[in-house]
Amino acid sequence: MDNELAWKRFPKRAVHLDFHTPPGIDNLGCKLNGKEFAATLRDAGVEYVNVFAKCNMGFCYYPTKIGYVYPGLKRDLLGEMVSACHDEGIKVAAYFNVGLSHEHALRHRDWCVVNKLGQVYQFDKMDHWFRTMCFFSGYRECILGMIDEVLAQYPVDGVIFDSMNTPPCYGIECIEEMEKHGLNPKSDDDMQYMAYLSALSMRDAINATIASRRNDVFAYYLGLEACHQPTHIELEVLPQGGWGYDYLPARIRYIRTFGKPYSTMTARFHRSWGDLGGIRPEPALMFDCLNSIVNGGKCCIGDHLHPFCKLEPAVYKMIGSVYSEIAKLDPWTDGAKPQTEIAIFAPWLGKYSKDADRCGIAMRGYSRMLVELKQQFDIVNSDADISCYSIVIIPDFSSLNDADAAKIQAFMAKGGKVISSAWGGLNPDGSDFALPAYRDAMEFCGDESHHFSFIHPSTEIADGLPEIGTTIYEKGIAIKPKNGKVLSTMGVCDFNLQDWDYRHEYLYISELEQTDAATIVEFANGNACHFTFPLGYAYFQHAACAYRTLLRNELHRMLPKPMLKLENFPSFGQATITAQDGRRMLHLLCYVPEKRGAVMEIVEEPAIALDVKVQLRMDGKAPKRLYYAPDGEDIPFETKDGYVKFSVPLVKGYRLIVAED
Ligand SMILES: [Zn+2]
Repeated sequence: MDNELAWKRFPKRAVHLDFHTPPGIDNLGCKLNGKEFAATLRDAGVEYVNVFAKCNMGFCYYPTKIGYVYPGLKRDLLGEMVSACHDEGIKVAAYFNVGLSHEHALRHRDWCVVNKLGQVYQFDKMDHWFRTMCFFSGYRECILGMIDEVLAQYPVDGVIFDSMNTPPCYGIECIEEMEKHGLNPKSDDDMQYMAYLSALSMRDAINATIASRRNDVFAYYLGLEACHQPTHIELEVLPQGGWGYDYLPARIRYIRTFGKPYSTMTARFHRSWGDLGGIRPEPALMFDCLNSIVNGGKCCIGDHLHPFCKLEPAVYKMIGSVYSEIAKLDPWTDGAKPQTEIAIFAPWLGKYSKDADRCGIAMRGYSRMLVELKQQFDIVNSDADISCYSIVIIPDFSSLNDADAAKIQAFMAKGGKVISSAWGGLNPDGSDFALPAYRDAMEFCGDESHHFSFIHPSTEIADGLPEIGTTIYEKGIAIKPKNGKVLSTMGVCDFNLQDWDYRHEYLYISELEQTDAATIVEFANGNACHFTFPLGYAYFQHAACAYRTLLRNELHRMLPKPMLKLENFPSFGQATITAQDGRRMLHLLCYVPEKRGAVMEIVEEPAIALDVKVQLRMDGKAPKRLYYAPDGEDIPFETKDGYVKFSVPLVKGYRLIVAED
């Protein structure tokens, strides 16, 4: 399906309906009434739902000739649900778990992933992933057969494939496959890479199976990166289910750069998938859905169908309540495109990377800071066109290969500005900076040896910072300035954290000497700036407001007239800008997750912001009218210094402001 058709047909509001069912439920599906099932979804405003062809237990819910029908099931649950939903105009996707299929694993142990210890069962684990399927075994043809069977028999609008990210496999088929790629099973890195290739190979085989039957279905692969998705992206984000509240704001700014339709998949559960009796407060669900909307995305809410197959009225009352509010925003959100001027450059995201974990933390740290600073930004991989941005950020661990370096070089040559930190911007072997402008500005001297060390910013970049050497909690690199301008020096101690001299351990690190060593260097006529410590990683790990203030001050130097300036809007509030033909929308989102008890972050009600002062850069467009949507109440405004200026007396959770050209 091409992008244009995908955008046209992409559902605005969906439900992801889990239905993994252990054996032993005699009356599975006994309460399924197709008409009532579809009417419940319709009344909740659901346009798209997935129903189960095959669950992670390995059971099928239709009369398969290839797989295992759920024991004792006489009805075609899949067929009845597809038909009933279509009668109500609801689109339907068929769900297959690909990586997990416990019934197949039980009966075909040679189809399982063999781990490094030679096991196919991991009894010490005993979660869903205690045994997984090998994509180069006989299982491949079996699962492809089931997918083909469903596509041949049911007029589904989409297919969704789960658990594609299976672990490395030491089975003979995979070892032989590795040899074809010149990979070495003795290397853990090569094994991880092979697992990645295995998932892509399975995806290719499934794509070919789909193409042999249909060219008009949505297909999504859970567990694969956005760049590997053929038709659209459904970002799984359950904030309380392990993803946390930082995941969505960062990742949605990446997935939206592919030009494909995208949504976020949160859930109604208190905890995570499978929590059938757990319900979140409605404002938490509203926050997640709005968080997608304000970033140009669509919505999907996860649920788990009871084995008797009756949808829970309480769940659909809540989903309906949230979706009816979201639907009121459609005139201003349909086809609206995010407006951005900063990019976080994330080359590891478009390919296999051993560094993905710490790179991801650094990216989320930068993302958090930029959200808190109300900056408008995307996250892009190496394939993206970066010429549309004013500033590119190269985070802490992002090395630049020749192609990446050439891209940044060309960007800078046209006046583009660059902020980088720590090892960000080094060449792939980490021996020196990749770009001539960096090498001209400073000499790379390897890893920093002092820990902790302390930041001493010069007055140009010290606004809002306390007059104290601020601790650098995460070590970065050491440099000697050449032609660069030092914006911050470094204070050091005579010993390092946790030094051990066989007499004492050193834990109290005080600054004993202020040195000339640089911690922030500006160069290329003020168009580039390098922080020697991992600013994004350190912010995510330690949340020191001083780090964000340093970034704010440097951004202010590079981008004195940002797209948006806000006063009186809390640091946790999010502000984004989207545009349709002839108008721009400012979204003010004001919710705050609170850490409660040992693990949970809870949103129970919207937060309030009062008397928010807004300045929206005009960019040559003088607005004729400013109003709140959807109610249409006019907002008085003035234009000055290239900005539209106005006040928003009250934001309770969310406010949408429209500037009509
Ligand atoms: Zn294998």
